[in-house]
Amino acid sequence: MIENTFGINIIPDNDSGRLLALKRYRIMDTPSEASFDNIADLCTKIFKVPISLISLVDAERVFFKANVGMGKVKEANRGKSLCALAVLDPEVTIFEDALKEPCLIANPNVAGEFGLRFYAGAPLITYDGFLIGTLCIIDQQPRVFSKEEEIILKGLATAVMDQIELRLSALEEIGKQQTTNEELIQQKEEVQSINEELTVINEELNESRQNLQVLNENLKKSEKRFRELIEQAPVAISIYSGEELIIEAANARMLDLLGRTAEIIGQPLLKARPELITHPYLQVIRGVLGSGKDHMGLAVKAPVLRLGKVVERYYDVNYRAIKDEWGKVTGVIAVGIDVSEKIASSLRETEMAEELAVMNEELLATNEDLISSKDYLMLINEHLNKSESRFRGILQQATAGIMVCYGKALIIESVNDMMLTIISKSKDIIQRPFADAMPELKGQPFLKLLDDVYTSGLTYIANETKAIVNRNGELVEGYFNISYQAIKSDNELITGILIVATDVTQQVASKKAVQKAEDMLRFSIEAANIGTFIINQTTRVMVASPRLKEIFGYYPDEEMPYDAAVVQISEEHRERVVASVEAAFEKGEDYFLEYSLIGFHDQQLRWVRAVGKLNQYTADGEMYFSGAIIDITEQKQDEQRKNDFIAMVSHELKTPLTSLKGYLQILEQKAKKAQESSAILMHDKASTQVKRMISMINGFLNVSRLDSGKIHIAKECFNMTSLFKEADEEACSTISTHQVVFSQIESAMLNADRDKIGQVINNFISNAVKYSPSGSLVIVNSKIIGRQLLVEVKDQGRGIKPEDKDKLFDRFYRVVNDDVISGFGIGLYLCAEIIERHEGEIGVESKFGEGSTFWFSLPIYEN
Ligand code: ADP
Repeated sequence: MIENTFGINIIPDNDSGRLLALKRYRIMDTPSEASFDNIADLCTKIFKVPISLISLVDAERVFFKANVGMGKVKEANRGKSLCALAVLDPEVTIFEDALKEPCLIANPNVAGEFGLRFYAGAPLITYDGFLIGTLCIIDQQPRVFSKEEEIILKGLATAVMDQIELRLSALEEIGKQQTTNEELIQQKEEVQSINEELTVINEELNESRQNLQVLNENLKKSEKRFRELIEQAPVAISIYSGEELIIEAANARMLDLLGRTAEIIGQPLLKARPELITHPYLQVIRGVLGSGKDHMGLAVKAPVLRLGKVVERYYDVNYRAIKDEWGKVTGVIAVGIDVSEKIASSLRETEMAEELAVMNEELLATNEDLISSKDYLMLINEHLNKSESRFRGILQQATAGIMVCYGKALIIESVNDMMLTIISKSKDIIQRPFADAMPELKGQPFLKLLDDVYTSGLTYIANETKAIVNRNGELVEGYFNISYQAIKSDNELITGILIVATDVTQQVASKKAVQKAEDMLRFSIEAANIGTFIINQTTRVMVASPRLKEIFGYYPDEEMPYDAAVVQISEEHRERVVASVEAAFEKGEDYFLEYSLIGFHDQQLRWVRAVGKLNQYTADGEMYFSGAIIDITEQKQDEQRKNDFIAMVSHELKTPLTSLKGYLQILEQKAKKAQESSAILMHDKASTQVKRMISMINGFLNVSRLDSGKIHIAKECFNMTSLFKEADEEACSTISTHQVVFSQIESAMLNADRDKIGQVINNFISNAVKYSPSGSLVIVNSKIIGRQLLVEVKDQGRGIKPEDKDKLFDRFYRVVNDDVISGFGIGLYLCAEIIERHEGEIGVESKFGEGSTFWFSLPIYEN
């Protein structure tokens, strides 16, 4: 009774015809056979699955002709076996994940303890179109099944079906042979007494028949070793493939028959046997290749080489088309039997005793029987060759290098093109021991590993393993993923090794290059003592380098989350730092900051300089804010010491200068009283120098105050008109060398520190005077642009080189060769600080040699 678990109809309309077709193969409930087991075993290796079955679907049950991986189970209920579904469809039935298939939910193989997840079954289709069973593979894991794998499984199912047909033919042949043998013995006895000569011929034919039977047996047993079999065959065999009729194989008998050596293998037929060019049989072979129709000829005369000379011999020849699974003719198999001697002797006999001919008729009939039996065996031979060539086709299609070796000496039996490319060898290595074919492996571990696999039967797998290989005659280092797997016979004896290899040299090289680049970067970061960090934009999770943790006073191997690090930043800087990080996250703004922090464990004050940038990491597509931080505490301390020193010196200098100024005033009064004009002049000069000195010292004091945050901006609302007026008056009274003109003055109300803005204007004017020739013009302009007031001071002086432009506003920056003109490079620095603290802008336009325009702009006060 069928217990249908699928919830769909699993009995096809033609089921009764299908069951009759199955029955005629006489295969149900027969014991397991190596040829089927081998294909199932091959499937588990090719597809890397634990289970492969050859199933035959009977009326109520499914019988397993071959079973790899399912223990001793011989059959299953048709209503539970997935093969019952696979025989409904001529294409491959695939369930990549059984749990997602509604029809399989209730199936005990899927729902039960066995836990079937993956199933792929290719139907076994008879020549008359019945789907009698499947070649299937099963896994307890879900997996993806590629189109290429589907084609391979289908090809292997066709090979199984061939094998079933072949098996039936052999069964029928054995039956036929038994009756023929009995008749033969009877006939032979009658004939023997009549003609001894003919008996000899008869015996020869008998022997040939037996040899062919042996060949048939051998071929059946060793499909995989077809070349060896061709070699052993008692008839001459060669295989030609493709348009060019490349001699793919030719056994020793064939080579002997043609008077050639194994060198012709691999050559086009015409190149190997130029004597055929005029021979009609070349056309015959081409005809078979073109039409796919077989050709047979008895006692055919053909030219062959004997001791370097072309001689004519007689052959029974048979040319058969080799077809692939789609029926396309891919080559021709030629079988030849040298019958020259027999022809000669039968000619002799015809001459000697014509009367024997009558008596021979019966015997000839027997001979014909034998010949047709021989033909039949050749047909079987061809079938086997066909499945072999299909198997080789599968090997060739594989993307990995594959090699099959047999025997303890590891004789190379077959190898695909990919493997030949990987090991830089030609097909000549076939039939040679592996160690001889690959001398470059001597001294490397692989020969020993292969030997171990052959002894233990345990599979060896290694990834990215290094090997020295031969590349066009040069020994070079390469990297490979390899697997050595023992091939076992029915009785678990190890008969060979399946070697699979892929060349991963490129991948390993690029991996190494990336690793090297990473190491180099890490070395440089470590050498520069830089701390690095990376923060995920979405999760805000921070990864900090050990050095960064040290800077923040954490132990290098301790966790330091982003929030914890922020707490360590000094309070006066914290808000600014967090705002900058947020701006980087939100607007992608660059991040460049200096701030101080207190170490977590050591409570030490440190100054740091931090840079960072928002980037997208291509591997996960996420945004990360990453950057580096260096400890600048020492630099800051040096600066502080310098500022303290400048402040102290300036302060100390101020006291004697104030006294000096006082004494100068007394001297001035005295000189005026005595009307000593030269003393008055000298007083004026001394007084100018003292003023300059006072202004320089005030400059230094301002710088140190600025650094220590002691400079204060006292904002008030005022009209710029009055400030321009004061600056104009000041210029008139103090500058006699230049003409300072306040032209085109537009004015506005500002909310700013009036004194400090005045200081900026005066500084621009005094620089213009200082750096332009005596008598030249200095023009002061101002205009309103939008909500800003722009103030410009133009001179006709020497101008500024482009490379100096950006640095003029840096502290202590002086243009090279400026030592002739006094100054310390702090005036413009102070101007820039003042304007920036008013949220204004400052700058310079200049062409070297043609004067400069220094400008600043400030926001207009609007109430
Ligand atoms: P200093 O006290 O040396 O003048 P500043 O900071 O005022 O210091 O100026 C820095 C440098 O900028 C000067 O050394 C000078 O080379 C250059 N500079 C300033 N103003 C002008 C100008 N109007 N024309 C040409 N060069 C100038």
